[in-house]
Amino acid sequence: MSDILESNIKFLQGVGPKRAELLSKELNINTFKDLLHFFPFRYVDRSKIYSISEIESTMSYIQIRGSIAKMTEVGEGLKKRRLIITLKDSSGTVDLVFFKGIKWIKEKLNYKSEYIIFGKPTIFNQTINFVHPEIEDSNSQSVNSQENMIGVYPSTEKLRNSGISNKIITQIVYNLIQKLYNNLNETLPAYIVSNKKLLSYRDSIKNIHFPKDQNYLSKAQFRLKYEELLLLQLSILKQKKDHEIIYNGITFPKISDHFYSCFNNIPFELTEAQKRVIREIRSNMTSGKQMNRLLQGDVGSGKTMVAILSCLIAADNGYQSCIMAPTEVLAKQHYSNSQKMLGDSITKTALLTGSTKKKERKEILDNLIKGDIDILIGTHALIEEIVQFKNLGIAVIDEQHRFGVTQRSKLWDKNETPPHILVMTATPIPRTLAMTLYGHLDVSIIDQLPPGRKPVKTIHAKEHQRNRINSFLKEQIDKGRQVFIVYPLIKESEKMDYKNLQEGYMNIIEEFPAPKYVTAVVHGQQKQEDKEYDMDLFVKGKANILVSTTVIEVGVDVPNASVMVIESAERFGLSQLHQLRGRVGRGAEESFCILMTSHKLSKESHQRIDLMCSTNDGFELAEADLRMRGPGDIDGTQQSGLPIDLKIASLSKDGPILEECRSTAKEILIDDPLLKDPKNSIFKICLENRQQLRDYSKIS
Ligand code: ADP
Ligand code: MG
Repeated sequence: MSDILESNIKFLQGVGPKRAELLSKELNINTFKDLLHFFPFRYVDRSKIYSISEIESTMSYIQIRGSIAKMTEVGEGLKKRRLIITLKDSSGTVDLVFFKGIKWIKEKLNYKSEYIIFGKPTIFNQTINFVHPEIEDSNSQSVNSQENMIGVYPSTEKLRNSGISNKIITQIVYNLIQKLYNNLNETLPAYIVSNKKLLSYRDSIKNIHFPKDQNYLSKAQFRLKYEELLLLQLSILKQKKDHEIIYNGITFPKISDHFYSCFNNIPFELTEAQKRVIREIRSNMTSGKQMNRLLQGDVGSGKTMVAILSCLIAADNGYQSCIMAPTEVLAKQHYSNSQKMLGDSITKTALLTGSTKKKERKEILDNLIKGDIDILIGTHALIEEIVQFKNLGIAVIDEQHRFGVTQRSKLWDKNETPPHILVMTATPIPRTLAMTLYGHLDVSIIDQLPPGRKPVKTIHAKEHQRNRINSFLKEQIDKGRQVFIVYPLIKESEKMDYKNLQEGYMNIIEEFPAPKYVTAVVHGQQKQEDKEYDMDLFVKGKANILVSTTVIEVGVDVPNASVMVIESAERFGLSQLHQLRGRVGRGAEESFCILMTSHKLSKESHQRIDLMCSTNDGFELAEADLRMRGPGDIDGTQQSGLPIDLKIASLSKDGPILEECRSTAKEILIDDPLLKDPKNSIFKICLENRQQLRDYSKIS
């Protein structure tokens, strides 16, 4: 049985070597099984026939019925020669356009018959027409004419041009199911199928391709999504279980001087959420198992404090720790914050970045291996081979999505027993995505901002309002506030972007002249010293305005800055806009985020800007982003290193099924952690076969 599913598609009736090659190249369909699992992406109701007058260009695939009023060939030579068929029904006429197979079509069609046309209306020269639609004699019987729903399969231009139409695909899938139906064995354990009242595998496959009716289609879709997501969750959670079995962790039973001298020094009360997260981290540290935890918290929620306190627990138990940040600016800020929090406590900290001077570097490295440094804070410089700890107990990675998988995993190897790992992100990740991308980690969420913060007021402004915006900025500066002005910087248009930034900077200087106003500028093309100098001016409150690229996106904390102007805001993604906005609203003053855009905005950009203006909630924005763009584009998806290759389920739409599968997978593993029970043998084999199952364990 499994053998026949692996048969080469060319042996299927109606395929043959030529089509097989095309199917392989264009759609990656090589075997019978590939074809069975090649699902329609939508369905057309065959019982529905539109009249020509009803057609709109925004419609998807539809059917119309009519007879031919006219056939004309236009265009000369190779250039755009085409056949235009004017089809008429009682309500009007519409053109069908063919560039290929003209001779054949002309021979096949006649003026007497009535035809059913199946295709997608498009607009050309301001009139609606169908390009290469399928044409069928309305009297001819097709394979599945007894059913009302017909599947529409993904296709490519090459396939269509080679005559492999949707109808042909439908036909070969039909042949395949005819041949295999009785051999399609169940692919989920019997108890799951009956407990969850799932449609059988065989009937799901049949109905996903040739739905008997809407009800059967829904059942088939549910069953196939369920299977896909259950296996995914099972493999993720099994990996997590295995990890717990393999990796012992260092235990930190004590809390003492390092921790308390800082704790008593903090000028504010920790939020309940911060306290809860510290307890969650503590529970890992005392479990004897290695911690592998993701800490999510919106910008400004106070993750750094949690990180420092966790490091101090390690110090109290005689272990070292490190905090790695993606930029120099941020590493420095963490360092100076930790200095402030630690006061003159016994805890020894050091800062190591790319620009640490040679002599100082050597000193740090020596002290590190001797155990004379408790907390090492730095950038990528931390993961270099030469950086060796005496005993690294916990590694914190800030803004984890800024690091690659291998970079992150290098910290694992800095100690014989792998250190506890805490990765932090301010990019809120929708639940469904987190369960999948980070499903193998423990997840903590700081879902509360420190008290007294006022939500940032977000305003959309266009170029003609520039003067008003400038006077508003002046008002704010006169009140003693500081202003960020951010320009986009995108690799592809880097030169243009720098030009825009320079121009913008000149305009600002003109509009806000010295000595009354001081404007700092920071971007990637500056010399390090210049950058630092300007950044410092702003951080210390000596500059009123900071003009910059997105270098300030990550983590920079200037509580007195209460206005963020984002230029060409339409060019930023939602999560990036939210990150930038998070730079303001940190002090007690009312803060503003002004999104400057051009006049013309695409529908999607408009949606994004409107959303930004309507909510400050990072999770809400992340959910919206997922809905609008799908999971592939969400920050972090690509870098996660995890393949989410879902054939039928969608992380953005099938949240409830995913939740159910996750809890079912958990139950299965609690009951049978090694999947040894014969009733779970299908799962065991499946997981072993899953190519996807890479080593998740070191990805954090
Ligand atoms: P993020 O989670 O974005 O990294 P930070 O850790 O930079 O946020 O914290 C933002 C600011 O809030 C810092 O100035 C920090 O000192 C302050 N902060 C953190 N926790 C609290 C708290 N519980 N109460 C008041 N302020 C806090
Ligand atoms: Mg931070």
